[in-house]
Amino acid sequence: MIVRPDAEGIRRAVEILAADSVVAFPTETVYGLGAHAFSERAVGEIYRLKNRPSWNPLIVHVASVSAARELAEEWPGRADELAARFWPGPLTLVVRRARRLPGIGAANDTVAVRVPAHEVALRLLEASGLPLAAPSANRSESISPTTAEHVARSLPDVPLVLDGGACSWGIESTVLDVTGDVPRLLRPGALGLRELRDITGSLALPEDVADGAARPSPGMSRRHYAPRARVVLCKDVQDVDRSGLAEPVGVLTYEGGGSGEGGVGTEVLSAEPREYAADLYAALHRLDDAGVATILVLEPPQTEDWLAVRDRLSRAAAK
Ligand code: AMP
Ligand code: MG
Repeated sequence: MIVRPDAEGIRRAVEILAADSVVAFPTETVYGLGAHAFSERAVGEIYRLKNRPSWNPLIVHVASVSAARELAEEWPGRADELAARFWPGPLTLVVRRARRLPGIGAANDTVAVRVPAHEVALRLLEASGLPLAAPSANRSESISPTTAEHVARSLPDVPLVLDGGACSWGIESTVLDVTGDVPRLLRPGALGLRELRDITGSLALPEDVADGAARPSPGMSRRHYAPRARVVLCKDVQDVDRSGLAEPVGVLTYEGGGSGEGGVGTEVLSAEPREYAADLYAALHRLDDAGVATILVLEPPQTEDWLAVRDRLSRAAAK
């Protein structure tokens, strides 16, 4: 059930969380499916409802840097600098987990943590007093939700969805491992590399994003963030041979990229990566709703500013 995030809504959400069940709530990135992070039963509920593979670990959301430190066995100086600069915000830090805490998912001795920059999320964290594990509130592999309605449609069994409107970033957080000497990017996301490097200096990039290229073969990447329709990336929407594509064909492009006569559905997003990202999942939801069988996606530029968007698109296109 979708409820307003007023005092009564928050009270009901806290009651559910305290009973080791789950609540969906807005963050600045996407909507999260939240549960007490160190309750085995509550976390089990997240994996069950999402049908999430047990090896995929969860991000723990907390209200403050000091609450984050309490989850860590070691809190590197670099984590302090990054937290001071970017929290609350869309940066997740992977640190060594405090030994007294149980592991979440398959993460052996680390924990991923962040302070979200959303007023409703922060009120919920403060009112519950709990660290909340909160992956995106959708079935595993499908498109992440950026509105309360997206959540209710993807996960109708979630007892409560706090409605905070549309998410301002609309794409998942950047995940950075700070356990080693050189910080390692684990997932490109809302926070860009340029801003990160201002604080960290050099960064280690995962192999599949380091060359900045879309993956040569979609089969190489794990399918994720995918709509029902088949996603086909292309360099020119007009030029594509459509004979082998299931009809109807929809188009996802951006301003200045050529519209390509979608017919059933054409989505023209911003040519600015942050704005594009903010509307990407909603556009994929709209194309699914329009009933297209194929979505032709114009590949964004191969520049670092588009890293997170290209990561999501290539995973959406993976078989
Ligand atoms: P999400 O599904 O958006 O909640 O994102 C969870 C992602 O965070 C995972 O897929 C990993 O990339 C990353 N993550 C979470 N916990 C850890 C951890 N302990 N170690 C490494 N990566 C993690
Ligand atoms: Mg997700």
